Amino acid sequence: MFNGLLIEKDDQGYRAEVKAIDESLLPEGDVSVKVLYSTVNYKDALAITGKGPVVRQFPMIPGIDLVGVVEQSDSDKFTQGDHVLLNGFGVGEVHCGGLATKARLKSEWLIPLPAAFTPRQAMSIGTAGYTAMLSVIALEKNGVTPDKGEVLVTGANGGVGSFAIAILAKLGYKVVASTGRVDQSAYLEKLGATEVIDRHTLSEPGRPLARERWAGAIDSVGSHTLANICASTQYGGTVAACGLAQGMDFPSSVMPFILRGVTLAGIDSVMRPLEDRLEAWQRLAEIIEPEMFDDISKEISLDEVINTADDLIAGKVRGRVVVKLAK
Ligand code: NAP
Repeated sequence: MFNGLLIEKDDQGYRAEVKAIDESLLPEGDVSVKVLYSTVNYKDALAITGKGPVVRQFPMIPGIDLVGVVEQSDSDKFTQGDHVLLNGFGVGEVHCGGLATKARLKSEWLIPLPAAFTPRQAMSIGTAGYTAMLSVIALEKNGVTPDKGEVLVTGANGGVGSFAIAILAKLGYKVVASTGRVDQSAYLEKLGATEVIDRHTLSEPGRPLARERWAGAIDSVGSHTLANICASTQYGGTVAACGLAQGMDFPSSVMPFILRGVTLAGIDSVMRPLEDRLEAWQRLAEIIEPEMFDDISKEISLDEVINTADDLIAGKVRGRVVVKLAK
């Protein structure tokens, strides 16, 4: 038996509970891992609260991220004692995930824990920080360089937003942060935002084209916000779309794309090929300074995860939440 958070759905309804779990519940995989740290991402919070259709198989251990130590391996890629890192690949959705002291995983999903990070630091970054990095790489690949002008980051106080601001600022971009919590401006400015704007200026229905402002944008919000960003992106600019915190709709027109050559770059972290993951984690290792973690993340225990998931969906969590599982 091992300790974990279990989501069940049956005649008694949808519920999440921390409990002792039998090892027979763990799915097939060639690597067994003692989980040291996991995290609470937006997707985990949707899974735990049942507010979104994330879990597609029951019972399920949520947790799309983990860092752990290999206990047993039938793969020649990893041996007992190796520290490994996992983000996504349907873990916590269709394959039991990281919010438990044990996991059984497929070796092709795992990457070695980057030497630059402790297990806790890697989980401070987690899927949110890795997605922020993928988004920045997408802007770079589309020619958005720091000299081109301001880059907008929405959902600024969230996990993706916080890391996007920190990464862009460190790379020399002028970052404008959009948030519903302008009272947190000091935090956003410490991460590197040069200006903080109220998200309500972007979240209402707008015009198909507006004044050109953004050289690029990283949007974790979707809906009217994403439409308004595209409408106000400079000629030839790029918008990296990675989230749906406002909504999954996209009430836009083709105008920004056919008249201004705006590129909408879709960002998926879940099924991303291994080489892109390794590139993103290598870039994170070069960019992230250890002191950033103190500002962006806080640590909780497994028993605190359910309440934290409610807070996260309610938009009350700032930055990242790391969950300590084992020593
Ligand atoms: P998070 O920490 O909860 O951050 C979300 C932020 O969005 C909140 O902190 C809030 O920021 C803002 N927000 C919340 N409700 C909003 C609303 N109704 N309208 C406008 N803004 C709102 O979540 P996260 O882990 O950073 O994830 C952010 C989004 O990215 C989620 O939709 C998640 O599913 C998605 N995501 C996608 C991928 C991918 O592979 N594509 C990977 C990771 C995350 P303020 O308080 O500052 O306004």
